[in-house]
Amino acid sequence: HANGRSPAAPNSGDTKNLPLDTLINLDHGDPRMYESFWRKMGDECTFVIKGYESLSYFSNPKNPACWFLEPKLEDSIKALHGAVGNAVTDGYSIVVGTGSSQLLHAVLYAVTSPDQPNQTSVVAAAPYYSSYVEILNLVRSGLYKWDGDAHEFDKDEPYIELVTSPNNPSGVIRGPVVSRDGGILVHDLAYYWPQYTPITSSLEFDIMLFTASKCTGHAGSRIGWALVKDIEVAKKMTKFMEVSTIGVSKESQLRVAKILQVVADRCKRFGSPEGDNFFEFSKNLLTKRWEILRETVKKTQMFTLPKYPLQHCNYTGDVTQAHPAFAWIKYKDGMDDCEMLFKEHKILTRGGKKFGTDPGFVRVSMVSREEEFNLLIDRLSMIQGLNNVDG
Ligand code: PMP
Repeated sequence: HANGRSPAAPNSGDTKNLPLDTLINLDHGDPRMYESFWRKMGDECTFVIKGYESLSYFSNPKNPACWFLEPKLEDSIKALHGAVGNAVTDGYSIVVGTGSSQLLHAVLYAVTSPDQPNQTSVVAAAPYYSSYVEILNLVRSGLYKWDGDAHEFDKDEPYIELVTSPNNPSGVIRGPVVSRDGGILVHDLAYYWPQYTPITSSLEFDIMLFTASKCTGHAGSRIGWALVKDIEVAKKMTKFMEVSTIGVSKESQLRVAKILQVVADRCKRFGSPEGDNFFEFSKNLLTKRWEILRETVKKTQMFTLPKYPLQHCNYTGDVTQAHPAFAWIKYKDGMDDCEMLFKEHKILTRGGKKFGTDPGFVRVSMVSREEEFNLLIDRLSMIQGLNNVDG
């Protein structure tokens, strides 16, 4: 395939630092898009830890739910949810984890019991977040097992349903699918932030998982948090963390505490000349990227993208649609391997099969650095070029 830049490609500006034949990796949702905002913020979030600080294992022995949660992180998590209005924190225990990935393991441990006759089935509606399968299958736990697509679950037994909303990969708002007595719901709300989707209510589910990775883009700090209604469940999650890693890095917690507080303090002002509202900045950037992507995909006449409803966002006060962190692209006429097609055009994506659905889909990260996004658009336009030439 030709590697030249398509002359018709929109937005073919800022790609000068990458060689034209670079393979762009949009398989992971690595949130480097946000670097430009944080660079602009300069030293606002810089914080220093001295050699004698934070030596102890313990952060807050008085906290009955989670003794290794830094009080500053607890405060800024509450401040941020309060400012955005996406989740209720009053009456909830907060458990911090090494990413929400570790919290997922902790939840599964906390809501199952070794006294049960069988392993508890864990399901999620396809297309589901591909890592759930890996997390569940890595160590064959005696407590629980991956049981696949929630749409197909028909056993009359206790179960756990993972509800991802907005969904990874498809970006849609979802509720539980199985809805039966004896089921435990775990809401993975990694993307329930205003840059990705309209905030339509302040959620109050029993177990809600969030992560700094997707909220502010600080994936490298590895901080996630769970809001848990039942303190006994929170305590068991804490026990899991105690045994597996004896808590969570204080450096990471304090850094994320600082960042969340900076976001919370500035996120109620819109249109300020400083441009320091993180969600406003991110939402504008994602909106722009989605416009460019939709225009490009339309021109190819080969792919489709999901449509998202217009909804009132309680946080911004606007009526908007979703601008998810991933594009869930479908090849129109059915295709054996859309991932391969993209790979031939030097775009690494994740194919539909890994999400429990058809290989005619690919998931493409929308939160990459600007240079990579621009290359994605250039290369998608070239797929169109080939189509037109080859018929
Ligand atoms: N849940 C969902 C739906 C995700 O997309 C991700 C990250 N891709 C995670 C959880 C885990 O995020 P982390 O471990 O970085 O907090």
